[in-house]
Amino acid sequence: MRLYYRTFLGLVALACATATLRGQPQAPDLILSNGKIITVDERFTIAQAVAIKGNRIVAVGSNQEIALIAGANTRRIDLAGKAVIPGLIDNHMHLLRAATTWLRELRFDGVESRKQAIEMLRARVKAAGAGEWVYNIGGWTHQQFADDPKPFTREELDQIAPDNPVSLQESYYQVFLNSRALQALGIQANAADPPGFVKGSIMHDATGRPTGVIRGDIPATRPIAAKLPKVPPEQLEDSSRALVQDMNQAGLTSAGVPGCNADVLEIFQKWKAQGRLNIRIFCIDGVAAGTPEQVDKALEQIPKIKLFQGDSYIDNIFFGESVYQPLHDPMFALKSDPTADQLQQWRRMAMEIAKAGLPLHVHAELHDTIDAFLDQIEAINKEHPIKSLRWTLAHVNQINAEQLERMKKLGMYAAVHPWAVINGGIMHEEFGDGAYDMPPLRTIQNSGIQWGLGTDGTAANQYLPFTTLYFAVTGNMVGGAKVIRQTIDREDALIAHTRKNAYLIFQENNLGSIQPGKLADLVVLDRDYLTVPTDQIRNIKPVMTMVGGRIVYDASVSAQTAAR
Ligand SMILES: [Zn+2]
Repeated sequence: MRLYYRTFLGLVALACATATLRGQPQAPDLILSNGKIITVDERFTIAQAVAIKGNRIVAVGSNQEIALIAGANTRRIDLAGKAVIPGLIDNHMHLLRAATTWLRELRFDGVESRKQAIEMLRARVKAAGAGEWVYNIGGWTHQQFADDPKPFTREELDQIAPDNPVSLQESYYQVFLNSRALQALGIQANAADPPGFVKGSIMHDATGRPTGVIRGDIPATRPIAAKLPKVPPEQLEDSSRALVQDMNQAGLTSAGVPGCNADVLEIFQKWKAQGRLNIRIFCIDGVAAGTPEQVDKALEQIPKIKLFQGDSYIDNIFFGESVYQPLHDPMFALKSDPTADQLQQWRRMAMEIAKAGLPLHVHAELHDTIDAFLDQIEAINKEHPIKSLRWTLAHVNQINAEQLERMKKLGMYAAVHPWAVINGGIMHEEFGDGAYDMPPLRTIQNSGIQWGLGTDGTAANQYLPFTTLYFAVTGNMVGGAKVIRQTIDREDALIAHTRKNAYLIFQENNLGSIQPGKLADLVVLDRDYLTVPTDQIRNIKPVMTMVGGRIVYDASVSAQTAAR
Protein backbone atom coordinates (compact mmCIF):
# COMPACT_ATOMS: atom_id res chain seq x y z
CA MET A 1 0.00 0.00 0.00
CA ARG A 2 1.25 3.43 -0.85
CA LEU A 3 1.50 5.47 2.29
CA TYR A 4 0.91 8.76 0.59
CA TYR A 5 -1.55 9.55 -2.11
CA ARG A 6 -0.16 12.70 -3.53
CA THR A 7 2.49 15.10 -2.41
CA PHE A 8 2.47 18.72 -3.36
CA LEU A 9 4.28 21.98 -2.99
CA GLY A 10 2.20 24.95 -1.97
CA LEU A 11 2.36 28.27 -3.73
CA VAL A 12 4.46 29.68 -0.91
CA ALA A 13 6.91 26.81 -1.28
CA LEU A 14 7.23 27.39 -5.01
CA ALA A 15 7.90 31.06 -4.33
CA CYS A 16 10.58 30.07 -1.79
CA ALA A 17 12.20 27.58 -4.15
CA THR A 18 12.31 30.17 -6.93
CA ALA A 19 13.78 32.76 -4.60
CA THR A 20 16.44 30.29 -3.41
CA LEU A 21 17.41 29.51 -6.99
CA ARG A 22 17.88 33.23 -7.60
CA GLY A 23 20.18 33.31 -4.59
CA GLN A 24 17.82 35.11 -2.21
CA PRO A 25 17.92 33.54 1.27
CA GLN A 26 14.24 32.60 1.64
CA ALA A 27 15.04 29.10 2.89
CA PRO A 28 12.92 27.60 5.68
CA ASP A 29 14.15 27.74 9.28
CA LEU A 30 13.19 24.15 9.96
CA ILE A 31 12.45 21.02 7.99
CA LEU A 32 10.84 17.89 9.42
CA SER A 33 11.38 15.01 7.03
CA ASN A 34 11.18 11.25 6.71
CA GLY A 35 7.83 11.11 8.49
CA LYS A 36 4.21 10.28 7.82
CA ILE A 37 2.62 13.72 7.76
CA ILE A 38 -1.13 13.33 8.24
CA THR A 39 -2.00 16.78 6.92
CA VAL A 40 -5.79 16.62 7.55
CA ASP A 41 -6.23 18.92 4.55
CA GLU A 42 -9.47 18.65 2.53
CA ARG A 43 -8.13 15.61 0.64
CA PHE A 44 -6.63 14.04 3.78
CA THR A 45 -3.24 14.06 2.04
CA ILE A 46 -0.39 12.09 3.54
CA ALA A 47 3.08 13.60 2.96
CA GLN A 48 6.66 12.92 4.10
CA ALA A 49 8.09 16.29 4.99
CA VAL A 50 7.12 19.77 6.12
CA ALA A 51 9.05 23.05 5.96
CA ILE A 52 8.55 25.90 8.44
CA LYS A 53 9.66 29.51 8.29
CA GLY A 54 9.02 31.73 11.28
CA ASN A 55 5.69 30.68 12.76
CA ARG A 56 4.16 29.31 9.57
CA ILE A 57 4.27 26.23 7.38
CA VAL A 58 5.75 27.11 3.98
CA ALA A 59 5.76 23.75 2.23
CA VAL A 60 4.48 20.20 2.56
CA GLY A 61 5.60 17.41 0.27
CA SER A 62 7.91 14.48 -0.37
CA ASN A 63 11.38 14.26 1.21
CA GLN A 64 12.97 15.17 -2.14
CA GLU A 65 10.69 18.13 -2.81
CA ILE A 66 11.27 19.63 0.62
CA ALA A 67 15.03 18.92 0.57
CA LEU A 68 15.22 21.09 -2.55
CA ILE A 69 14.20 24.23 -0.69
CA ALA A 70 16.55 23.76 2.31
CA GLY A 71 19.21 26.42 2.80
CA ALA A 72 22.59 26.36 4.53
CA ASN A 73 21.06 27.44 7.85
CA THR A 74 17.94 25.29 7.75
CA ARG A 75 17.61 23.12 10.84
CA ARG A 76 16.54 19.55 10.13
CA ILE A 77 14.67 17.04 12.24
CA ASP A 78 14.59 13.42 11.08
CA LEU A 79 11.18 12.05 12.05
CA ALA A 80 12.41 8.46 11.57
CA GLY A 81 9.07 7.41 10.10
CA LYS A 82 6.94 8.87 12.88
CA ALA A 83 3.39 10.12 12.27
CA VAL A 84 2.64 13.84 12.54
CA ILE A 85 -0.81 15.39 12.97
CA PRO A 86 -2.01 19.00 13.23
CA GLY A 87 -2.02 20.46 16.75
CA LEU A 88 -5.14 19.21 18.53
CA ILE A 89 -7.86 21.73 19.32
CA ASP A 90 -10.41 21.35 22.12
CA ASN A 91 -13.34 23.59 21.20
CA HIS A 92 -14.57 23.85 24.82
CA MET A 93 -12.39 23.42 27.88
CA HIS A 94 -12.48 25.31 31.19
CA LEU A 95 -8.75 25.82 30.92
CA LEU A 96 -8.20 29.12 32.72
CA ARG A 97 -10.40 28.15 35.66
CA ALA A 98 -8.32 24.97 36.02
CA ALA A 99 -5.15 27.06 36.39
CA THR A 100 -6.45 28.38 39.73
CA THR A 101 -6.22 24.87 41.25
CA TRP A 102 -4.01 22.80 38.90
CA LEU A 103 -0.83 22.79 40.98
CA ARG A 104 -2.82 21.80 44.08
CA GLU A 105 -4.83 19.06 42.37
CA LEU A 106 -4.01 15.37 42.30
CA ARG A 107 -5.28 14.70 38.77
CA PHE A 108 -6.42 11.19 37.83
CA ASP A 109 -6.95 11.90 34.07
CA GLY A 110 -5.63 8.88 32.15
CA VAL A 111 -4.80 6.82 35.28
CA GLU A 112 -6.12 3.35 34.46
CA SER A 113 -5.18 1.53 37.66
CA ARG A 114 -6.75 2.00 41.09
CA LYS A 115 -3.54 0.76 42.66
CA GLN A 116 -1.66 3.53 40.91
CA ALA A 117 -4.23 6.15 41.97
CA ILE A 118 -3.83 5.03 45.59
CA GLU A 119 -0.04 5.24 45.32
CA MET A 120 -0.35 8.74 43.87
CA LEU A 121 -2.64 9.70 46.75
CA ARG A 122 -0.24 8.25 49.34
CA ALA A 123 2.69 10.17 47.83
CA ARG A 124 0.71 13.42 47.77
CA VAL A 125 -0.44 13.00 51.38
CA LYS A 126 3.15 12.31 52.44
CA ALA A 127 4.36 15.45 50.70
CA ALA A 128 1.53 17.62 52.09
CA GLY A 129 1.92 19.70 55.22
CA ALA A 130 -0.01 18.84 58.40
CA GLY A 131 -3.73 19.43 57.91
CA GLU A 132 -3.31 20.49 54.27
CA TRP A 133 -6.10 19.59 51.82
CA VAL A 134 -5.38 16.89 49.22
CA TYR A 135 -7.93 17.00 46.43
CA ASN A 136 -8.99 16.90 42.83
CA ILE A 137 -11.97 18.52 41.12
CA GLY A 138 -13.37 16.09 38.56
CA GLY A 139 -11.95 14.73 35.32
CA TRP A 140 -12.10 11.08 36.38
CA THR A 141 -14.39 8.22 37.40
CA HIS A 142 -13.82 5.05 39.40
CA GLN A 143 -14.91 3.00 36.35
CA GLN A 144 -11.62 3.97 34.67
CA PHE A 145 -9.67 1.75 37.09
CA ALA A 146 -9.47 -1.39 34.94
CA ASP A 147 -7.79 -3.39 37.74
CA ASP A 148 -10.44 -2.64 40.37
CA PRO A 149 -13.28 -0.27 39.36
CA LYS A 150 -14.49 0.54 42.88
CA PRO A 151 -15.44 3.86 44.50
CA PHE A 152 -13.29 5.10 47.40
CA THR A 153 -14.55 4.65 50.97
CA ARG A 154 -14.20 6.96 53.94
CA GLU A 155 -12.36 4.24 55.88
CA GLU A 156 -9.90 3.61 53.08
CA LEU A 157 -9.14 7.31 52.69
CA ASP A 158 -8.78 7.63 56.49
CA GLN A 159 -6.17 4.91 56.48
CA ILE A 160 -4.15 6.66 53.77
CA ALA A 161 -4.68 10.15 55.16
CA PRO A 162 -5.44 10.16 58.88
CA ASP A 163 -4.27 13.77 59.33
CA ASN A 164 -5.14 15.49 56.03
CA PRO A 165 -8.58 16.31 54.65
CA VAL A 166 -9.06 14.46 51.33
CA SER A 167 -11.67 15.29 48.67
CA LEU A 168 -11.81 13.33 45.42
CA GLN A 169 -14.48 14.55 43.01
CA GLU A 170 -15.74 12.16 40.32
CA SER A 171 -16.85 14.29 37.35
CA TYR A 172 -19.76 16.32 38.79
CA TYR A 173 -21.45 13.17 40.05
CA GLN A 174 -20.06 12.47 43.50
CA VAL A 175 -17.31 13.43 45.91
CA PHE A 176 -15.41 11.04 48.21
CA LEU A 177 -14.36 12.56 51.53
CA ASN A 178 -12.39 11.20 54.48
CA SER A 179 -13.16 11.94 58.13
CA ARG A 180 -10.89 14.98 58.31
CA ALA A 181 -12.63 16.47 55.27
CA LEU A 182 -16.10 15.81 56.77
CA GLN A 183 -14.90 17.54 59.93
CA ALA A 184 -13.49 20.51 57.98
CA LEU A 185 -16.78 20.89 56.11
CA GLY A 186 -18.85 20.65 59.30
CA ILE A 187 -20.65 17.46 58.27
CA GLN A 188 -21.60 15.44 61.36
CA ALA A 189 -23.59 12.35 62.29
CA ASN A 190 -27.26 12.96 63.10
CA ALA A 191 -26.97 16.70 62.64
CA ALA A 192 -28.41 19.26 60.24
CA ASP A 193 -26.60 19.75 56.93
CA PRO A 194 -24.13 22.63 56.92
CA PRO A 195 -25.34 25.63 54.90
CA GLY A 196 -24.94 25.49 51.12
CA PHE A 197 -25.36 21.74 50.75
CA VAL A 198 -28.13 20.43 48.49
CA LYS A 199 -30.78 18.59 50.51
CA GLY A 200 -30.23 14.84 50.36
CA SER A 201 -26.77 15.10 48.80
CA ILE A 202 -24.92 13.99 51.95
CA MET A 203 -25.04 10.19 52.05
CA HIS A 204 -25.54 8.48 55.44
CA ASP A 205 -25.43 4.84 56.54
CA ALA A 206 -28.28 3.12 58.47
CA THR A 207 -27.02 4.58 61.76
CA GLY A 208 -27.06 8.16 60.43
CA ARG A 209 -23.29 8.38 60.11
CA PRO A 210 -22.05 10.21 56.97
CA THR A 211 -20.41 7.72 54.60
CA GLY A 212 -18.10 10.33 53.13
CA VAL A 213 -19.98 10.33 49.81
CA ILE A 214 -21.65 13.55 48.60
CA ARG A 215 -23.80 12.85 45.56
CA GLY A 216 -25.90 14.91 43.20
CA ASP A 217 -25.31 17.07 40.22
CA ILE A 218 -23.13 20.18 39.84
CA PRO A 219 -24.87 22.05 42.70
CA ALA A 220 -24.15 19.14 45.11
CA THR A 221 -20.40 19.29 44.47
CA ARG A 222 -20.18 23.09 44.61
CA PRO A 223 -20.10 23.70 48.40
CA ILE A 224 -17.09 21.39 48.64
CA ALA A 225 -15.17 22.87 45.70
CA ALA A 226 -15.83 26.32 47.20
CA LYS A 227 -14.04 25.31 50.43
CA LEU A 228 -10.95 23.87 48.73
CA PRO A 229 -7.91 26.18 48.79
CA LYS A 230 -6.92 27.51 45.37
CA VAL A 231 -3.27 28.13 44.54
CA PRO A 232 -2.09 31.34 46.23
CA PRO A 233 -1.65 34.37 43.90
CA GLU A 234 2.15 34.09 43.99
CA GLN A 235 1.90 30.53 42.61
CA LEU A 236 -0.70 31.21 39.96
CA GLU A 237 1.91 31.60 37.23
CA ASP A 238 3.60 28.29 38.18
CA SER A 239 0.21 26.60 38.25
CA SER A 240 -0.71 28.02 34.83
CA ARG A 241 2.65 26.88 33.45
CA ALA A 242 2.20 23.34 34.78
CA LEU A 243 -1.28 23.24 33.25
CA VAL A 244 -0.13 24.40 29.81
CA GLN A 245 2.75 21.89 29.92
CA ASP A 246 0.30 19.09 30.64
CA MET A 247 -1.88 20.22 27.70
CA ASN A 248 1.13 20.36 25.34
CA GLN A 249 2.27 16.94 26.52
CA ALA A 250 -1.21 15.66 25.62
CA GLY A 251 -0.92 17.19 22.11
CA LEU A 252 -3.22 20.17 22.66
CA THR A 253 -2.23 23.46 21.08
CA SER A 254 -5.51 25.45 21.08
CA ALA A 255 -8.66 25.62 23.16
CA GLY A 256 -12.02 27.34 23.19
CA VAL A 257 -12.29 28.53 26.80
CA PRO A 258 -15.59 29.28 28.53
CA GLY A 259 -15.10 31.92 31.21
CA CYS A 260 -11.59 33.33 30.81
CA ASN A 261 -10.60 34.17 34.42
CA ALA A 262 -9.09 37.67 34.44
CA ASP A 263 -6.15 36.88 36.75
CA VAL A 264 -5.03 33.90 34.67
CA LEU A 265 -5.67 35.72 31.40
CA GLU A 266 -3.27 38.43 32.57
CA ILE A 267 -0.51 35.82 32.89
CA PHE A 268 -1.28 34.44 29.42
CA GLN A 269 -1.17 37.98 27.99
CA LYS A 270 2.24 38.52 29.59
CA TRP A 271 3.56 35.27 28.10
CA LYS A 272 2.18 36.24 24.70
CA ALA A 273 4.02 39.57 24.83
CA GLN A 274 7.20 37.64 25.70
CA GLY A 275 6.70 35.20 22.83
CA ARG A 276 6.31 32.20 25.13
CA LEU A 277 2.61 31.47 25.24
CA ASN A 278 2.44 27.76 24.42
CA ILE A 279 -1.29 27.32 23.89
CA ARG A 280 -3.78 29.42 21.95
CA ILE A 281 -6.93 30.37 23.81
CA PHE A 282 -10.22 31.60 22.39
CA CYS A 283 -12.51 32.91 25.10
CA ILE A 284 -16.23 32.25 25.33
CA ASP A 285 -17.65 34.81 27.73
CA GLY A 286 -20.87 36.64 28.36
CA VAL A 287 -23.05 38.58 30.73
CA ALA A 288 -24.60 36.55 33.54
CA ALA A 289 -28.37 36.76 33.88
CA GLY A 290 -30.50 34.58 36.15
CA THR A 291 -33.58 36.76 36.75
CA PRO A 292 -35.74 39.00 34.50
CA GLU A 293 -34.20 42.05 36.27
CA GLN A 294 -30.68 40.81 35.44
CA VAL A 295 -31.81 40.32 31.85
CA ASP A 296 -32.89 44.00 31.77
CA LYS A 297 -29.36 44.99 32.82
CA ALA A 298 -27.68 42.53 30.46
CA LEU A 299 -29.61 43.92 27.49
CA GLU A 300 -27.83 47.24 28.05
CA GLN A 301 -24.42 45.58 28.18
CA ILE A 302 -24.65 43.19 25.23
CA PRO A 303 -24.45 45.87 22.49
CA LYS A 304 -21.19 47.09 24.07
CA ILE A 305 -19.46 43.71 23.81
CA LYS A 306 -16.62 43.72 21.29
CA LEU A 307 -15.27 40.38 20.09
CA PHE A 308 -12.32 39.63 17.76
CA GLN A 309 -10.05 42.32 19.20
CA GLY A 310 -7.18 39.86 19.68
CA ASP A 311 -5.08 37.62 17.47
CA SER A 312 -4.31 33.96 16.78
CA TYR A 313 -2.88 33.51 20.33
CA ILE A 314 -5.59 35.09 22.48
CA ASP A 315 -8.99 36.30 21.39
CA ASN A 316 -12.61 36.65 22.50
CA ILE A 317 -14.80 34.91 19.98
CA PHE A 318 -18.18 33.94 21.42
CA PHE A 319 -20.91 35.05 23.78
CA GLY A 320 -21.49 32.06 26.08
CA GLU A 321 -21.73 29.57 27.46
CA SER A 322 -24.91 30.51 29.35
CA VAL A 323 -27.65 32.76 27.98
CA TYR A 324 -30.20 32.56 30.81
CA GLN A 325 -29.03 30.62 33.85
CA PRO A 326 -32.31 28.89 34.79
CA LEU A 327 -32.09 27.22 31.35
CA HIS A 328 -28.65 25.72 31.90
CA ASP A 329 -29.13 21.93 31.70
CA PRO A 330 -27.73 19.83 34.56
CA MET A 331 -25.36 16.94 33.78
CA PHE A 332 -27.22 13.98 35.18
CA ALA A 333 -30.83 14.74 34.29
CA LEU A 334 -32.56 12.76 31.56
CA LYS A 335 -35.21 15.34 30.78
CA SER A 336 -35.62 19.09 31.00
CA ASP A 337 -38.78 21.15 31.20
CA PRO A 338 -38.10 24.68 29.99
CA THR A 339 -41.05 26.93 30.90
CA ALA A 340 -42.56 29.63 28.69
CA ASP A 341 -41.44 32.35 31.15
CA GLN A 342 -37.86 31.12 31.14
CA LEU A 343 -37.82 30.85 27.35
CA GLN A 344 -39.15 34.38 27.05
CA GLN A 345 -36.14 35.66 29.03
CA TRP A 346 -33.82 33.42 27.00
CA ARG A 347 -35.22 34.88 23.80
CA ARG A 348 -34.80 38.50 25.00
CA MET A 349 -31.10 37.77 25.63
CA ALA A 350 -30.50 35.81 22.43
CA MET A 351 -32.37 38.39 20.32
CA GLU A 352 -30.04 41.11 21.62
CA ILE A 353 -27.00 38.90 20.95
CA ALA A 354 -28.18 38.38 17.35
CA LYS A 355 -28.95 42.08 16.96
CA ALA A 356 -25.41 42.91 18.15
CA GLY A 357 -24.05 40.54 15.50
CA LEU A 358 -22.30 38.36 18.08
CA PRO A 359 -21.41 34.69 17.65
CA LEU A 360 -23.09 32.56 20.33
CA HIS A 361 -21.83 29.32 21.92
CA VAL A 362 -24.51 28.03 24.26
CA HIS A 363 -24.71 25.10 26.68
CA ALA A 364 -27.53 22.85 25.40
CA GLU A 365 -27.61 19.23 26.43
CA LEU A 366 -31.09 17.73 26.78
CA HIS A 367 -33.52 16.98 23.96
CA ASP A 368 -36.33 19.32 25.08
CA THR A 369 -33.90 22.15 25.76
CA ILE A 370 -32.38 21.83 22.29
CA ASP A 371 -35.87 21.85 20.74
CA ALA A 372 -36.91 24.90 22.77
CA PHE A 373 -33.73 26.81 21.92
CA LEU A 374 -34.16 26.01 18.22
CA ASP A 375 -37.77 27.30 18.35
CA GLN A 376 -36.45 30.58 19.75
CA ILE A 377 -33.55 30.81 17.32
CA GLU A 378 -35.78 30.16 14.30
CA ALA A 379 -37.97 33.07 15.41
CA ILE A 380 -34.98 35.33 16.12
CA ASN A 381 -33.43 34.44 12.77
CA LYS A 382 -36.41 35.97 10.98
CA GLU A 383 -35.70 39.35 12.57
CA HIS A 384 -31.92 39.23 12.87
CA PRO A 385 -30.39 36.57 10.60
CA ILE A 386 -27.72 34.52 12.37
CA LYS A 387 -26.42 32.64 9.33
CA SER A 388 -22.91 34.10 9.33
CA LEU A 389 -22.53 34.21 13.12
CA ARG A 390 -21.58 30.54 13.70
CA TRP A 391 -24.13 30.07 16.48
CA THR A 392 -23.16 26.88 18.21
CA LEU A 393 -24.97 24.46 20.52
CA ALA A 394 -22.50 22.98 22.99
CA HIS A 395 -22.44 19.45 24.52
CA VAL A 396 -25.59 18.22 22.66
CA ASN A 397 -25.37 14.64 23.95
CA GLN A 398 -29.13 14.16 23.41
CA ILE A 399 -29.37 15.72 19.94
CA ASN A 400 -31.22 13.87 17.16
CA ALA A 401 -31.30 13.90 13.34
CA GLU A 402 -34.29 16.22 13.11
CA GLN A 403 -32.66 18.82 15.35
CA LEU A 404 -29.42 18.59 13.39
CA GLU A 405 -31.40 19.30 10.23
CA ARG A 406 -32.97 22.38 11.81
CA MET A 407 -29.52 23.58 12.90
CA LYS A 408 -28.12 23.05 9.43
CA LYS A 409 -30.88 25.16 7.91
CA LEU A 410 -30.03 27.92 10.38
CA GLY A 411 -26.31 27.69 9.53
CA MET A 412 -25.51 26.54 13.07
CA TYR A 413 -22.69 24.37 14.44
CA ALA A 414 -22.43 21.59 17.00
CA ALA A 415 -19.67 21.53 19.60
CA VAL A 416 -19.84 17.91 20.73
CA HIS A 417 -18.52 17.06 24.21
CA PRO A 418 -19.12 13.41 24.98
CA TRP A 419 -19.43 13.40 28.77
CA ALA A 420 -19.76 9.60 28.49
CA VAL A 421 -15.99 9.37 28.02
CA ILE A 422 -15.87 9.29 31.82
CA ASN A 423 -19.56 9.26 32.77
CA GLY A 424 -20.72 6.43 30.49
CA GLY A 425 -21.09 4.00 33.40
CA ILE A 426 -23.11 6.42 35.50
CA MET A 427 -25.22 7.46 32.48
CA HIS A 428 -26.15 3.83 31.79
CA GLU A 429 -27.12 3.37 35.46
CA GLU A 430 -29.23 6.54 35.43
CA PHE A 431 -30.65 6.59 31.90
CA GLY A 432 -30.66 2.93 30.81
CA ASP A 433 -30.20 2.02 27.14
CA GLY A 434 -30.90 5.60 26.00
CA ALA A 435 -27.33 6.32 27.03
CA TYR A 436 -26.12 4.23 24.07
CA ASP A 437 -26.93 7.18 21.80
CA MET A 438 -25.45 9.91 23.98
CA PRO A 439 -23.96 11.35 21.89
CA PRO A 440 -25.22 9.97 18.55
CA LEU A 441 -21.84 10.49 16.89
CA ARG A 442 -22.59 8.78 13.57
CA THR A 443 -25.88 10.67 13.17
CA ILE A 444 -24.00 13.92 13.79
CA GLN A 445 -21.26 12.99 11.31
CA ASN A 446 -23.77 11.87 8.67
CA SER A 447 -25.89 15.01 9.05
CA GLY A 448 -23.22 17.02 7.26
CA ILE A 449 -23.38 19.73 9.91
CA GLN A 450 -20.17 21.55 10.79
CA TRP A 451 -19.20 19.98 14.10
CA GLY A 452 -16.14 19.46 16.29
CA LEU A 453 -15.02 17.35 19.24
CA GLY A 454 -14.15 18.74 22.64
CA THR A 455 -14.19 17.62 26.25
CA ASP A 456 -15.79 20.27 28.47
CA GLY A 457 -12.83 19.39 30.73
CA THR A 458 -11.35 19.72 33.26
CA ALA A 459 -14.09 18.98 35.85
CA ALA A 460 -17.02 17.60 33.82
CA ASN A 461 -14.68 15.46 31.77
CA GLN A 462 -11.09 14.34 31.38
CA TYR A 463 -8.93 16.47 29.09
CA LEU A 464 -6.75 14.01 27.11
CA PRO A 465 -7.59 14.28 23.38
CA PHE A 466 -6.41 10.77 22.47
CA THR A 467 -8.85 9.41 25.05
CA THR A 468 -11.65 11.38 23.32
CA LEU A 469 -10.54 10.05 19.91
CA TYR A 470 -10.43 6.48 21.28
CA PHE A 471 -13.98 6.93 22.59
CA ALA A 472 -15.25 8.32 19.27
CA VAL A 473 -13.75 5.41 17.30
CA THR A 474 -14.51 2.51 19.68
CA GLY A 475 -17.53 3.70 21.68
CA ASN A 476 -15.62 2.69 24.81
CA MET A 477 -15.31 4.89 27.88
CA VAL A 478 -12.19 5.09 30.04
CA GLY A 479 -11.70 1.65 31.58
CA GLY A 480 -12.85 -0.04 28.35
CA ALA A 481 -16.61 -0.57 28.75
CA LYS A 482 -18.65 -0.04 25.56
CA VAL A 483 -21.04 2.82 26.34
CA ILE A 484 -22.17 4.26 22.98
CA ARG A 485 -23.12 2.40 19.84
CA GLN A 486 -22.73 5.18 17.26
CA THR A 487 -19.04 5.46 16.47
CA ILE A 488 -17.17 7.19 13.63
CA ASP A 489 -14.02 6.26 11.74
CA ARG A 490 -10.67 7.48 12.93
CA GLU A 491 -10.15 9.91 10.05
CA ASP A 492 -13.46 11.68 10.79
CA ALA A 493 -12.66 11.75 14.51
CA LEU A 494 -9.28 13.38 13.85
CA ILE A 495 -10.83 15.91 11.45
CA ALA A 496 -13.38 16.78 14.17
CA HIS A 497 -10.56 17.38 16.68
CA THR A 498 -8.47 19.52 14.29
CA ARG A 499 -9.69 21.11 11.05
CA LYS A 500 -13.38 21.32 11.97
CA ASN A 501 -12.53 22.70 15.39
CA ALA A 502 -10.42 25.39 13.71
CA TYR A 503 -13.69 26.47 12.12
CA LEU A 504 -15.49 26.41 15.46
CA ILE A 505 -12.90 28.82 16.90
CA PHE A 506 -12.82 31.11 13.81
CA GLN A 507 -9.25 30.05 12.95
CA GLU A 508 -9.79 28.02 9.77
CA ASN A 509 -7.30 30.19 7.87
CA ASN A 510 -4.60 29.64 10.48
CA LEU A 511 -5.10 26.29 12.16
CA GLY A 512 -6.49 22.77 11.89
CA SER A 513 -4.36 21.24 9.13
CA ILE A 514 -0.74 20.99 8.02
CA GLN A 515 -0.79 23.13 4.89
CA PRO A 516 1.36 25.90 3.42
CA GLY A 517 0.34 29.26 4.83
CA LYS A 518 -1.08 27.91 8.09
CA LEU A 519 0.51 28.36 11.51
CA ALA A 520 3.03 25.65 12.38
CA ASP A 521 1.08 23.87 15.14
CA LEU A 522 1.72 20.15 14.96
CA VAL A 523 2.26 17.03 17.02
CA VAL A 524 4.74 14.18 16.38
CA LEU A 525 3.35 10.89 17.71
CA ASP A 526 5.03 7.81 19.16
CA ARG A 527 2.83 5.58 16.98
CA ASP A 528 0.70 5.94 13.90
CA TYR A 529 -2.81 7.16 14.69
CA LEU A 530 -4.09 5.77 11.38
CA THR A 531 -2.87 2.19 11.76
CA VAL A 532 -2.50 1.48 15.49
CA PRO A 533 -5.15 -1.00 16.81
CA THR A 534 -8.18 1.06 17.90
CA ASP A 535 -7.75 -0.02 21.53
CA GLN A 536 -4.34 1.66 21.56
CA ILE A 537 -5.49 5.07 20.32
CA ARG A 538 -5.87 6.20 23.93
CA ASN A 539 -2.24 5.21 24.62
CA ILE A 540 -0.75 7.31 21.80
CA LYS A 541 1.80 9.70 23.26
CA PRO A 542 3.05 12.87 21.61
CA VAL A 543 6.85 12.90 21.42
CA MET A 544 7.00 16.50 20.28
CA THR A 545 4.46 19.32 20.19
CA MET A 546 4.96 22.54 18.26
CA VAL A 547 3.05 25.83 18.48
CA GLY A 548 3.74 28.51 15.88
CA GLY A 549 7.02 26.83 14.86
CA ARG A 550 8.29 26.66 18.47
CA ILE A 551 8.83 23.30 20.14
CA VAL A 552 6.74 23.53 23.32
CA TYR A 553 7.01 19.90 24.37
CA ASP A 554 9.80 17.43 23.68
CA ALA A 555 9.48 13.98 25.30
CA SER A 556 13.22 13.32 25.18
CA VAL A 557 13.93 16.56 27.06
CA SER A 558 11.14 15.86 29.56
CA ALA A 559 12.50 12.34 30.17
CA GLN A 560 15.95 13.78 30.95
CA THR A 561 14.47 16.39 33.27
CA ALA A 562 12.47 13.72 35.08
CA ALA A 563 15.57 11.54 35.51
CA ARG A 564 17.52 14.35 37.13
ZN1 LIG B 1 -21.54 23.72 29.57
